[in-house]
Amino acid sequence: MGIRGWIVFLSLMTLLASARPLSEKRPTDLLTQLLEKSTVYNQGQIFTWRSERKATGLWCRNTDTKGDGKPHSIDCFSKNRLVLRERDRNGDGKMDEFTSYGTDEKIVRQIDSHFDGNLDVEETLVREGPYIVRTTRRAKGKKPVIWAVVSVEHYPLAQEEGKAGHDGAEEEALKAMQATEGLRPLAKPFEAPSDDGKNVTTKFGFQVAKDCLDTDAKLAERLHETLAEGVKCLIKLDDEGKNHVSKIASLLLGQPSPRLMCTLEGQKWGRREALSSLPPEPPWIAVNPTFLAAATPQTMKQTLFHELFHPLGYAHQSDVDYPYACSFCCFPSEAKTDAEKKKQPLITDLACKICGAHFEGGVDNLDYLKKMAAFLPKILKAHHGTRPLLQYLKKHKGEPEEREAEFALVRSLSGVFEAPVASALLNRLEPVTDKGEMALLNLVRFYDKKPWAPQYASASKRLVSAVDAWTEGNDDEAARLIRESSYPSRNDPQLKDIDPGILDAVETSLNRTRLAVAELIYDSYGTQGAKVKEERFQTEVLEPLARRVSGL
Ligand SMILES: [Zn+2]
Repeated sequence: MGIRGWIVFLSLMTLLASARPLSEKRPTDLLTQLLEKSTVYNQGQIFTWRSERKATGLWCRNTDTKGDGKPHSIDCFSKNRLVLRERDRNGDGKMDEFTSYGTDEKIVRQIDSHFDGNLDVEETLVREGPYIVRTTRRAKGKKPVIWAVVSVEHYPLAQEEGKAGHDGAEEEALKAMQATEGLRPLAKPFEAPSDDGKNVTTKFGFQVAKDCLDTDAKLAERLHETLAEGVKCLIKLDDEGKNHVSKIASLLLGQPSPRLMCTLEGQKWGRREALSSLPPEPPWIAVNPTFLAAATPQTMKQTLFHELFHPLGYAHQSDVDYPYACSFCCFPSEAKTDAEKKKQPLITDLACKICGAHFEGGVDNLDYLKKMAAFLPKILKAHHGTRPLLQYLKKHKGEPEEREAEFALVRSLSGVFEAPVASALLNRLEPVTDKGEMALLNLVRFYDKKPWAPQYASASKRLVSAVDAWTEGNDDEAARLIRESSYPSRNDPQLKDIDPGILDAVETSLNRTRLAVAELIYDSYGTQGAKVKEERFQTEVLEPLARRVSGL
């Protein structure tokens, strides 16, 4: 670039920099937070809050590491993809490094190297090979410098190399971990963390609260093991597995550091085993100490790995369910009985096929929904599939895919306790001719012959009518049907000899499906701006149902 080019380039950069919103100060009082739709989280001295950039449609996570009310690090996302990172490297309250992440895998970083308000350095990072990134640095008045480094930060790892499970996959995984800044500590043996009196900081980026270590002194080491094994497992999967690995690397390097804790402020654990944050909240995982004390090492790893995926940006039901898929793929449950041992490889295979795949359109992807409908009932989490399937049915009503989606819904409810609902759904779909559909029908009808099933037929039919009313846009009718659903008395002569535990399980399954429909009705009211209906429905239907399902 000639000197003229430099002048154009630099003035353009100055212009871009001044086009940023002037104030992204930390909102101090609750009213301002509400008005600005931001929430402030405080982790010790570190504050994090969300802001929106209306002009570009990005949402940003601002982090104040000095406690002076100004952001020193801003990460901006389009949906959940990191597109812009800004840093205040000298802590003077002004941003001096701007990095943009293109969809073409090109990273451009502009730096104010003299902290004088001029962006005088530009670095372009382009991926050249599996682990190679070529960086070109252009500084004002100097010759461009080019270097290539073995680093894959923010890039899908080793895409060109190998298929799942092939020879040498392990070494490849190790190589990739050693090459990626955020993962390097995972490729090495566990090192004792440092302790600042309040927090324990591990060498791999996580902070572990002290009360966790009081319950399990080896928890930091177990987390290290979980991450190392998990990353090795993900690298062997298809492209999306490598994408998860990049996200984990960013999480471990990111500001604020992810935290592992064992207390939930202002909340009771109840039957919860663990919880974790979703963006824009800063990343944390919380583990119930009672569960921590009792869980087997494998169960603990499965749980930690599951919880790790929420801070990466994946919620149940509204996003592709990588938390369940990846934790069951990389850390299968311990099979005890022969039946469990026989089922295990099938469950792992299904889980890995979901974990390693990218699903265009997310939960609005029929291939994804069908895979989940087969996987979730096998890990006894069928209800997580209901809501996205119902949304798909409404959106694609009258389209050729509708019937396939209906069968996926039946499949997701094909467990023994859900059979009355699956059976009522099937009544609308007969006649059935397809072989796969026939097998499913036979299974459901077999379970539907259980002695309690007929007593739940009318409640199930009502529930299916509620589904139909909601998919047709008749929210009030759907609400009425959900509200009025009632179950037979336990003194019913047909039921009084049946184990009450079975009847509880049947009613919990029915309630979970009712809850999925109820949540959708509640959302519909919300989007219509029907405030009164929304509030009444929440207190009269949604909350009591949620309490019954969680057993609180
Ligand atoms: Zn979860």
